[in-house]
Amino acid sequence: GDFANEVDTLVIGSGPGGYVAAIRAAQLGQKVTIVEKGEMGGVCLNVGCIPSKALIAAGHRFHNAKHSEDMGIIAEKVSINFEKVQEWKGSVVKKLTGGVEGLLKGNKVEIVRGEAYFASENSVRIMDEKSAQTYNFKNCIIATGSRPIEIPGFKYTNRVINSTGALALKEVPKKLVVIGGGYIGIELAGAYANMGAEVVVLEGSKQILGGFEKQMAKVVERRLKKNGVEFKMEALAKGVEESETGVKVTAEVKGKEEVFEADYCLVTVGRKPNTDELGLEQIGVELTERGVVKIDKQCRTNISNIYAIGDVVEGPPLAHKASYEGKIAAEAIAGEKSEVDYLAIPAVVFSDPELASVGYTEAEAKEAGFDVIASKFPFAANGRALSLNETDGFMKLVTRKDDGLVVGAQIAGPNASDMIAELGLAIETGMTAEDIALTIHAHPSLGEITMEAAEVALGTPIHIV
Ligand code: FAD
Repeated sequence: GDFANEVDTLVIGSGPGGYVAAIRAAQLGQKVTIVEKGEMGGVCLNVGCIPSKALIAAGHRFHNAKHSEDMGIIAEKVSINFEKVQEWKGSVVKKLTGGVEGLLKGNKVEIVRGEAYFASENSVRIMDEKSAQTYNFKNCIIATGSRPIEIPGFKYTNRVINSTGALALKEVPKKLVVIGGGYIGIELAGAYANMGAEVVVLEGSKQILGGFEKQMAKVVERRLKKNGVEFKMEALAKGVEESETGVKVTAEVKGKEEVFEADYCLVTVGRKPNTDELGLEQIGVELTERGVVKIDKQCRTNISNIYAIGDVVEGPPLAHKASYEGKIAAEAIAGEKSEVDYLAIPAVVFSDPELASVGYTEAEAKEAGFDVIASKFPFAANGRALSLNETDGFMKLVTRKDDGLVVGAQIAGPNASDMIAELGLAIETGMTAEDIALTIHAHPSLGEITMEAAEVALGTPIHIV
């Protein structure tokens, strides 16, 4: 029937932004409906963070099984049943997406399947194949996420694939060309190289992983090269020719044309916000110059009862940023004074080895007018790293010269994704290098690297001179 449903808060999109916002809004006493046109859990759970980390883990297992001779482990006839890898990956995704649905229901959030389109500042039409319904809301949170960009000359097919296609392959490619050395390209390049693919990465600039310091990117580049990945920097992909069995990618590398043959061509050159097909222009929701939804510190758009979070707004397209903003928006709707503060937001690459950064880099801190010291400690000087046979990389701690305040940290090394949490907490709570140095860290652990980097800042390291 075409009567209108009435809700307090309507959330569009069930990714890590939307589902977290819905749960928090329900916890704060709102009657909440969440709309999803695709799979529960959005990009992150279905075709992003989770399945990519599963493939990366499988790649590590395989690679380590084959290459642990240093430790005296000789594994003969190690092989991959990729169909089984994909099946396992799918089971991980299913557990989590089912979990999200359970959490939403447990919090009494109504789940509606369909595509939402704004009809007014207080209502959406939700359409599925069969019907359309109207939902009137007091407040709405747009969490529609983003999708891969397509570049001219590289229309997505069975062989010219984006990250979604790369996660769903039925076989490990013998040869893979990756266009774009950003974090998604590098993670997938590493995973497939570890599973035996010959990989070439074409990067337009002079450095892969452009968002990170050169020294850090170099650690990854060196390791990937060791694992057989080839890099072509300053390479502009021009076009692709496709046959039934493969692709021929033409690129201009430092001004000279080169051709790369492979089974697949993976294009990972960025993502664009899902702001179209939502009716935003119809109700006058403002976008920024970059085409993302414009919001204030409470994630409110120019229309006071409509909020936006996650990949559809400014900032790094990361799941934890989307979730963080989701909580802020829900709290703002409930009348709380919550505001976003991105000071301690971590950025992580699940490369080989991992990269992680939080707060300022040394250069950024200087630019912001801080007088800082950057203190470094290598993984190679840590007992745990040595006993894991994982000694590539370093930690860099950025502290203020006058009072030792921790303003940033960068890690290139194994488990950087977990280690960065302590530094985020340090920044969030206003800790100094001395606070960290005085904290007893278990031995032997990678955490001792953090303690030692703080000691370096104080001029009193024990394990390096
Ligand atoms: P999304 O997760 O994109 O969810 C949006 C949802 O909205 C979708 O389910 C979509 O179907 C739905 N939707 C859109 N329009 C409508 C509509 N009109 N009506 C109803 N529903 C609609 N981030 C990390 O932090 N760590 C990682 O390790 C990481 N790895 C990644 C690996 C890959 C390969 C990719 C592609 C991304 C990765 N990301 C990672 C990024 C992360 O996935 C995104 O930042 C995150 O999913 C954004 O969350 P979101 O809630 O804003 O939107």
